[in-house]
Amino acid sequence: MDASPYNHPSQQAINALLVVALFACLAAGTLWVWRTLSIAEQQQGAKLLQQETHILARQIETHFAYQSNALQRFAQRWELYHHQRPLWYRDADRLLHDFDNLQAIEWLDPHYQLQWIRPLAGNEQAIAFRYPPDHPNMPFLLRARELSRPILSSHFELVQGGHGLAYYVPLYRQASGTRQFDGYLIAIFRVEQLINSLLRRLPVEHMSLTISDGAQPIFQRKRADTIDSASQVQARVQLGDNNNFVLHTYPSRELQQRHSTAVPLITLVSGLLASLLLCYTLWLALLDLHRLRALQTSNRTLQSEIARRQQAEEVLQTSQSRLRLILDMTDYSHDALFILSLDPLEIVYMNRTCWTSIGYSGEQLREIIAISPEDVMPGAREWLQALQQQVIQGDSAIYQRHIRTRTGRLIPLEISVRHMNRLGRDYLICVGRNNRQQLEATAQLEKLTQLDGLTGLFNRRYFDSALMAEWRRLQRQQLPLGLLMVDVDYFKHYNDTLGHQAGDDALRQLGRALQLHVGREGERVCRYGGEEFALLLPGADLQQCRKVAELIHEAVRAMNIHHAVAPGNRMTVSIGIACTLPGTDQQPEALVGAADRALYQAKAAGRNCSAHAELVS
Ligand code: GH3
Ligand code: MG
Ligand code: MG
Repeated sequence: MDASPYNHPSQQAINALLVVALFACLAAGTLWVWRTLSIAEQQQGAKLLQQETHILARQIETHFAYQSNALQRFAQRWELYHHQRPLWYRDADRLLHDFDNLQAIEWLDPHYQLQWIRPLAGNEQAIAFRYPPDHPNMPFLLRARELSRPILSSHFELVQGGHGLAYYVPLYRQASGTRQFDGYLIAIFRVEQLINSLLRRLPVEHMSLTISDGAQPIFQRKRADTIDSASQVQARVQLGDNNNFVLHTYPSRELQQRHSTAVPLITLVSGLLASLLLCYTLWLALLDLHRLRALQTSNRTLQSEIARRQQAEEVLQTSQSRLRLILDMTDYSHDALFILSLDPLEIVYMNRTCWTSIGYSGEQLREIIAISPEDVMPGAREWLQALQQQVIQGDSAIYQRHIRTRTGRLIPLEISVRHMNRLGRDYLICVGRNNRQQLEATAQLEKLTQLDGLTGLFNRRYFDSALMAEWRRLQRQQLPLGLLMVDVDYFKHYNDTLGHQAGDDALRQLGRALQLHVGREGERVCRYGGEEFALLLPGADLQQCRKVAELIHEAVRAMNIHHAVAPGNRMTVSIGIACTLPGTDQQPEALVGAADRALYQAKAAGRNCSAHAELVS
């Protein structure tokens, strides 16, 4: 489960990186919105300031027009005044009283010579002043006269100190029926007081401003919280037909605060919080997704494991039922099947036949085997040791054992044993079969191969093996072994005259007679070949051999078989006798050779007799 890619640390790191990147993007976006809103607000503020500045300029112009109108009205009454100086003085003083920003009110005659001046105090230096042609304000004077319109001059240094502005109003009076130019009404404004009076009652407390004449600042009012870095706003101010004046305004912090709202800040904070919340939610969702996918993966693993186990269980059940079937089948088998484990030596499995065939229950048989295995299988311990030896040799083998039934009967058992090693343990698979019939058939067959078909006596093959066996046995027991070779006399003639069938009958009859006279334990009559018989007489000395030979002659005589060619016209036999104590220096063939020689001697002696010959060493 932990191997899931969704739980992999690098995947987590990538996800964390993605969430952080997303947060960075959202935060950057929020900052951009905040910045845009702030700039928009600033622009809005600047726009409002621009509007305010323009309005302020117009208001300044209006306020100035109020003063200039009063001066113009005063000038228009020149016709009345020019002969009544005291009246002019009185009205001039009233104007000076009304407009405290005026430094002086003067009459300049057409020759640019100051004539009248109010107040006198403080303007003494202006008395009898004559404007030289190169006076800086001369162009304004000429222009006012030319246009017949009042004009405000540029600023100049007042002799009383500070800046001043001169308002030139051309004067006219009727002379000789015509309107004649009669100099100028001059109002000298103190710039500081003029502008202060113009700004009076105007809403300018919240802003810093400067008024310049051309490029030269002539008035300045700055607040402490002026934002110098912010761009200033300017508006041209036309005063007394002079439009050289420019009003500059500067945004102050207060103004900025007035125009600014909490929207950008709220947007910034809420944007950042929303971004944070979104990213946190996304992170939690990713974690949940990872957990969900990890859970799905583990579920899949679990399900495949369950499926695998179910499959394994099905296979197990199938194999168990197969095993059960096999065990049932082995139970019904006629063969006894049992499995031994070695080290420790114990029976791992026995089929039903193992105990039913010998009359026990399974429990009883197991108990007997555990306590005394010899009771059910004679020689069991030696056999088990032999089996262990077989494991060392590592091959299979077939054993012939006997098993004892509950009633004590011995049953021959052919046990086929095969060794196998499983999981480091050695086992012997044993299949036992009652082979009584097979053993009997084999014995029967074995007997048949040892018998002569015509006479039913042992045949030459049996004779050879019996001779060898008796030779060895008697050699060990130090007892004599006698051999009689019996041959029918003139049997060829018998066959020739009476037929082969009669010959066969005679041979069978002779065989029975020989068997009749050889009856001791271990004595055997064999048909050696043709009409020749060999009698093995274990333990018989020469005397006993001679006696048996005599008995045979008598028995043949008693048979009384007619034989036309034989002397006495009766069938006779010749017998060669050999007898010896079997020793290591001689072979059994020597006994046969001696008997043969003795038979030859008997034939030579006229037949129908016995002869004895010694063994040739
Ligand atoms: P001798 O006295 O010297 O023994 O003479 P014999 O004629 O008996 O000996 P020989 O060896 O010359 O002949 C043996 C005969 O035995 C020849 C054969 O026809 C006969 N014979 C051998 N086996 C059988 C048999 O199984 N059945 C019959 N009917 N005759 C046999
Ligand atoms: Mg013969
Ligand atoms: Mg013969």
